Amino acid sequence: MNKFARAKLETEQQREVMLITQEECAEVTQAISKVFRFGIEGEHNGATNRDRLEEEVGDLLCMIELMIEHGIIDGNSVAQAGLKKKEKLAKWSNIRSAA
Ligand SMILES: [Mg+2]
Repeated sequence: MNKFARAKLETEQQREVMLITQEECAEVTQAISKVFRFGIEGEHNGATNRDRLEEEVGDLLCMIELMIEHGIIDGNSVAQAGLKKKEKLAKWSNIRSAA
């Protein structure tokens, strides 16, 4: 088996989880764009841009959990990467943990 064949996902469910995760990433991107264009409290069809952002972030968190549950990625590695990202942000940005 060559390295490309080994890199393929194992099941149809894993492929579907990845496909929908990809879509949800795009929906989060769109929701953030609407916040920048029209403000966090900007309203359209009875929902604010904050409402839409919360919904799409929730969708994405669900898909991330499913990627872990389906063995596509390792939860501990994801948690470690998150900690490393906070260190990088502290060094290279003005962002600090609010907690
Ligand atoms: Mg969505």
